[in-house]
Amino acid sequence: MIFDCSKTLPQQYFVASRIATDWLLDSISTKAIASIAGYTHTDKSPEQIAQYVSKMSHLHDSSMSPECELKLLSVPWYKKASYRNTIAVHSHGSISFNPKFLGRDISDIINTIVHEYMHYIGFSHKGNKPSDYNLKSVPYAVGALAESWHRSISV
Ligand SMILES: [Zn+2]
Repeated sequence: MIFDCSKTLPQQYFVASRIATDWLLDSISTKAIASIAGYTHTDKSPEQIAQYVSKMSHLHDSSMSPECELKLLSVPWYKKASYRNTIAVHSHGSISFNPKFLGRDISDIINTIVHEYMHYIGFSHKGNKPSDYNLKSVPYAVGALAESWHRSISV
């Protein structure tokens, strides 16, 4: 995963992106992803998802590097009513952040980056709200794993 740094985002977003990338490349995340009881919105088993994520993360070493760009979009998608409370969106390898929600702590930002990366590699959920059903989808569940891991190491 390559992050093409935009100057418009606070520095902590780039720190968070490096931590998120390192976590995805580490066996800690593979084990944690495989240990979830079951994911919604996918036919894959937790073990298959863990293997898939670890392989996708390693694409950064090859010529097929996925580029994941962090930016603050000037296009005001976040002003649309349906996106008013959306923290971030992913499109064509870019992660765009809603300026309204920039002031979050780094563990929250790591959650969002991992969530959007899971969308990038093909996992989804329905709707824009974290309902109980959505929370068991790969983007929400794996994002939450990254967040709780980061909180556990941040004392
Ligand atoms: Zn999502």
